[in-house]
Amino acid sequence: MAIKFTSVKVVPRFDQSPTGGFDVYWTVNAGGSAPTFQVSIADTESGPWTQLLQTRTSDNFLLNAGAQKINLGSGLTWFKIGAYIGSSLSAESLPADARNGMDRRIYLQYREILRRWKLTFDKTPMLPGFLFRRKFYGSKCTQCTDEILATPASSSCQVCFGTGIVGGYHTPISMRGDWSAQTAPRVVNKISKEPAGPQQVHVAKIKIFGVPDAKSEDLWVDFGTKVIHRIEEVIPEQWGGSVVTQTIVVSKLPPHHPAYKLTIPSSP
Ligand SMILES: [Zn+2]
Repeated sequence: MAIKFTSVKVVPRFDQSPTGGFDVYWTVNAGGSAPTFQVSIADTESGPWTQLLQTRTSDNFLLNAGAQKINLGSGLTWFKIGAYIGSSLSAESLPADARNGMDRRIYLQYREILRRWKLTFDKTPMLPGFLFRRKFYGSKCTQCTDEILATPASSSCQVCFGTGIVGGYHTPISMRGDWSAQTAPRVVNKISKEPAGPQQVHVAKIKIFGVPDAKSEDLWVDFGTKVIHRIEEVIPEQWGGSVVTQTIVVSKLPPHHPAYKLTIPSSP
């Protein structure tokens, strides 16, 4: 299967010095291949391009890419992602500009709204956590899947954690969550309508920053309690067509779930 980029999103950072910086996220269809990625930066759409990484990343994002000041004058900062299999370039994304194609006035408003939300999420009532984004490409798990019999990945597998892809999840991203939407903080009981019959499932709603976009079946780890939650649903909240915050509906994974074998960073 040919590797194909499906999106590149550039997000301004606000936790840096006034020189700023960007986080870059991309999505790719890569099937069973496990590419590594190189992010390049340029002042114009046509380059010249400067590669940003010494070692390519296997994740689908790069935080604090090119801590350069965004040029709000005539120029723009551009990013391009290359996907490599081994040492050969297999696919390249289209160049993406730091404003994600928005006109300057709209972009400045969007950026200001993002900045305010970032400040809000940095405040103390927000609880630190990690978003573990599920892998959708990479080496297939041979421990628990049988391609000929097409058996589903086992949720008890400690190689793929039930995702069918080795490792299961990308490097966790530190974020903060607003749990205040609960009637009872942090944990709410709800009767599930699973076919197995009624059982107690802990369901909670957490509001998080809009990027990166969370998806169903990603994981949210509450740093304080180390409890791992599976994301059941994502409700994006938009401004002008761009997601600025998202509410994730999560259910608590039971303590025996193999996801608890994932390595959780020691500080948020
Ligand atoms: Zn597996």
